Amino acid sequence: MTDVRVTPQRWLWQPRTKPIRLIEIHATRGNTTPEKQKQAALNWVQSPRNVGNLDGARNIDYANPEWGSSFSHVIGTDGSMGTVLDDNQMPTYSAGYGGVGSTYAIDEYAISYELAQSQAQEPFSDKLYDRLTTEVAIDCLKYGIPPVMISIMSQKGDVPTGIVRHDRCENGIKLGKTDPGVQFNEVRFIAMLKANMEDDMTPQEVRNIVRAMKFHSEDREGNQQESVTTISKWFGVLKEHQKDVDKHSAGEAHDHEIPAGRTGEA
Ligand SMILES: [Zn+2]
Repeated sequence: MTDVRVTPQRWLWQPRTKPIRLIEIHATRGNTTPEKQKQAALNWVQSPRNVGNLDGARNIDYANPEWGSSFSHVIGTDGSMGTVLDDNQMPTYSAGYGGVGSTYAIDEYAISYELAQSQAQEPFSDKLYDRLTTEVAIDCLKYGIPPVMISIMSQKGDVPTGIVRHDRCENGIKLGKTDPGVQFNEVRFIAMLKANMEDDMTPQEVRNIVRAMKFHSEDREGNQQESVTTISKWFGVLKEHQKDVDKHSAGEAHDHEIPAGRTGEA
């Protein structure tokens, strides 16, 4: 299958007004084979039945559709991608507000990815991990988002930065969501994501990420070690880049190889 772009129902997005600081991860789940999940999700965002609110008689209220369920991208089992929204369009909703006192919706700050999966116990495909980590690496470099998994148990106050699962944010917990669930391999995902980011990171992109990681480690105690490890490694990457530039101006060969050193960061 090839990549596709679809136009969702108009009530399934709003212009984005907040900075992108998060990536949110979901799994589609549904009553078809895994191979059909991508198309099923794309059909749903184009469906006139994807409406959040009902009228007094419990019928779809087309006079006031307001919102339904949407997302930015869906990755298929074959590694193809379906795009519903551009980065400047906010899904309404993929992961919304938390409970009482919540001050923000995850969607306001996040690009939302759905991963093709029929049911919770089914492993995600290798091609899906490949494509997901390629796309999220581009997002992380573009918006200075650090490649770390975070939990957002309270959606109020300062908005953290990183990658959040639907089942690890206040909205998902409130709604009893279990996606992406036990089969989502975070260690593999983060290792592949970092490798993709390092492949062609510019010095400015390294600086942006290191800055975000610094705030991240100050904000969220639980992830401090991971963040500090990554920061110090990337300061190393930055130094290597500088050496490269120096060599280049001295007429020597160019060497972009990044030292492996990725073990022990699980
Ligand atoms: Zn979800």
